[in-house]
Amino acid sequence: MSKTISINAGSSSLKWQLYNMPEEEVVAKGLIERIGIDNGISTVKFQGKSEQEVTDIPNHTVAVKILLEDLLRLHIIDNYSEITGVGHRVVAGGEIFKESTVIGEKEIQLIEELSALAPLHNPAHVAAMRAFQEVLPKVTNVAVFDTAFHTSMPAVAYRYPIANRYYEDYQVRKYGAHGTSHQYVAQEAAKLLGRPLEDTKIITCHIGNGASITAVKGGKSVDTSMGLTPLGGIMMGTRSGDLDPAIIPFLIDREPELADAEKLRNVFNRESGLLGISGTSSDMRDIISAWEAGDEHAKLAFDMYVDRVKKYIGQYIAVLNGVDAIVFTAGVGENSDTFREAVIKDLTCFGLELDPAKNVFGVSGDISTADAKVKVFVIPTDEELCIARDVERLKK
Ligand code: ADP
Repeated sequence: MSKTISINAGSSSLKWQLYNMPEEEVVAKGLIERIGIDNGISTVKFQGKSEQEVTDIPNHTVAVKILLEDLLRLHIIDNYSEITGVGHRVVAGGEIFKESTVIGEKEIQLIEELSALAPLHNPAHVAAMRAFQEVLPKVTNVAVFDTAFHTSMPAVAYRYPIANRYYEDYQVRKYGAHGTSHQYVAQEAAKLLGRPLEDTKIITCHIGNGASITAVKGGKSVDTSMGLTPLGGIMMGTRSGDLDPAIIPFLIDREPELADAEKLRNVFNRESGLLGISGTSSDMRDIISAWEAGDEHAKLAFDMYVDRVKKYIGQYIAVLNGVDAIVFTAGVGENSDTFREAVIKDLTCFGLELDPAKNVFGVSGDISTADAKVKVFVIPTDEELCIARDVERLKK
């Protein structure tokens, strides 16, 4: 039987999922945390069991070796020859990668060169790719790009209204992210609508720790909220989303140390969003419970987040000239009925209405009333499966 691993490597973590393909059956999955920090943790889940090991994991090569050794040690596989493909999620593919691609040294170098567009992510992806090449040199590696789905955006959406030379010299433009997730849930939404994907207008809301919203017309991304990097768009856990760009020179004038690009990136990527406004947490569960306990900062953080999501939905109804369905997915979108209710309750003028009996924790599918003109769906995203499917399609 042939097995494929989906890899999602972050700067200090590596999530993986092992599939029997083409059956699309999950054999095992795991998470390796604290790579490059002390006391690394490798968790493997398989056959209803969960195994955990704590050991130093200095880099991604060691993480990949631990993952592969665990598969043998726990008798999840008998032999490495069962693994016939590895798929890597890659956050930034720039203008170069318009679709999933089999990777060799040339592609790895290009992905490394694109690190400026995803400084937290691309270097980690490259480290994981090199580790797999070293340990399993004969296996096909495929890169699946978060940006690929958005390469269908028209220039009117992806260009910024700044001098041409910044686009021509440095390709400063909107690339978006979470493309694999937006594409998958839009396809699933068309099935729920019972209509061919080509005839649908769908707004997909991927609301996790990172969050983005996409306008999908006929199955193609026509606009998305994230920008040059995953910092743009709606407010997120620790990221600001869209701002008046004049805020940056204004702050540098007052705190000259912020002229350091790395410090600035930190302010907007790691100290903003829900965390910046609540002052306590970037996690939506904490925000909701703090607000319910009377914390005014947490309430403002929640309300601002909802406000930004509503405005993007409104924008994209205009971009699409109508909408058939709104989809909620990812950590907050899939799990928080409170959040979904807050977003949809003041959008009734667009024909949106939630059924409170359906909008409950743990639900998936249609959560709108029978009369609602526009459907609201909860669709769990499955980026790992999409990655495994692309590996299956592209491997020789
Ligand atoms: P990432 O972007 O890291 O992949 P996830 O998609 O896992 O993020 O989403 C993480 C977010 O989902 C966190 O803010 C977390 O609080 C939120 N979340 C998970 N479960 C719930 C829940 N039951 N209610 C509200 N928020 C939730």
